[in-house]
Amino acid sequence: MAKFLTLTDKCNLRCSFCYEIPIDGSPHTFEAEPETFAPELYKAMHDEGWKEVVITGGEPTMMPTFFRAIAECHRQSYEKIIVASNGRRFAYPDFTRRARLAGLTHANISLFGHNRIIHDGTTKQRGSFEQTNEGIRNLLAAGINVSCSVVVNKRNYKELSPYMDHVWSLGVRRMLMMGLKPFGGAFLERDKVFYDFEEGAPFVNASIRYGVELGLEITTMGLPSPPFDTTGTQDDNVRALKYFDYVLKQMDVDEPYCADILCDSCFGRDVCPVGAAPGQLIVCKCVTVRESTIREGVREGLTTVRAIRDATNACTECKTCAADIKALIAAEQEGRPFDPRKLDLPSSTRHGASDTAGLTLDGSWTGDTPGRDEPEASR
Ligand code: SF4
Repeated sequence: MAKFLTLTDKCNLRCSFCYEIPIDGSPHTFEAEPETFAPELYKAMHDEGWKEVVITGGEPTMMPTFFRAIAECHRQSYEKIIVASNGRRFAYPDFTRRARLAGLTHANISLFGHNRIIHDGTTKQRGSFEQTNEGIRNLLAAGINVSCSVVVNKRNYKELSPYMDHVWSLGVRRMLMMGLKPFGGAFLERDKVFYDFEEGAPFVNASIRYGVELGLEITTMGLPSPPFDTTGTQDDNVRALKYFDYVLKQMDVDEPYCADILCDSCFGRDVCPVGAAPGQLIVCKCVTVRESTIREGVREGLTTVRAIRDATNACTECKTCAADIKALIAAEQEGRPFDPRKLDLPSSTRHGASDTAGLTLDGSWTGDTPGRDEPEASR
């Protein structure tokens, strides 16, 4: 896990399954103010303990603030400065060198197929396959540690072994395989990206075994198991669940638009109030503590977030579920259902990041109004 520094939600591609595409067609407009980088990064390192940072978007390399963001991370001594990018701008050697000089150490590059038919068909941008490949070569030549990300979908699930050969031949040794999420572009183009998991799993599982044998270090994220077999990979499913939680909380409609349409294919159903079985909603994603466990604790007399934490180990990692636990305690005490989507969270809480500035949790840890001697009180 790392601190996520989001520079923009704009992008120079329009990938079929992009979760950031608004389904109402509204344009992306977010651009982070560079003045916020320093305090946000300082808080993330010193208050929350992050030592690694992912500079992300949208496509962060489109922003004129990109180099300033890297330099600020470097100035604050982040150990790993990672960019999550489609890699196109790194096809320009001077751009890559400048990023390296500013302090960039790692790049996670989205590459969706081993040929231009699959990749450009996904990104809807002719030539993007060649640009991204050139970007990867330039990054490696500049001494930047590169991993490739692939979203497993209808276009590529039968072609993942050649994909692994391709990234290996580029010189890449680490990759991230991600499952689909039912949001944004993936919802709009669901007929083009979703596939029958039972039918697809043997292909995907075989490619995972192939990649592991090849020597690739593979991280998987959001591939439901079964039917997928992620043996030999490192799973980062916590991050996938946090992203589901984030998107669901941002959706400004009473019921998620994907309800009853994609629930059967949804990895995140256990963090969704529509998809989870009664009582089984996961409230603390890091440690997997469910609604029924917390309600039981309240019935046994636990009335603060701290007491729930001490009894269940919930909310000990990133602290982002403290607000949910506080609301769930109140719901149980008042005999109400609990809906995490009704929590008023700040928009800066993106991608499972830990920035929860603005949350009011007075009294949630101690039962009294806490002071600064209660360091978790503002989280
Ligand atoms: S379980 Fe929730 S997030 Fe998943 S498809 Fe259904 S409504 Fe959408």
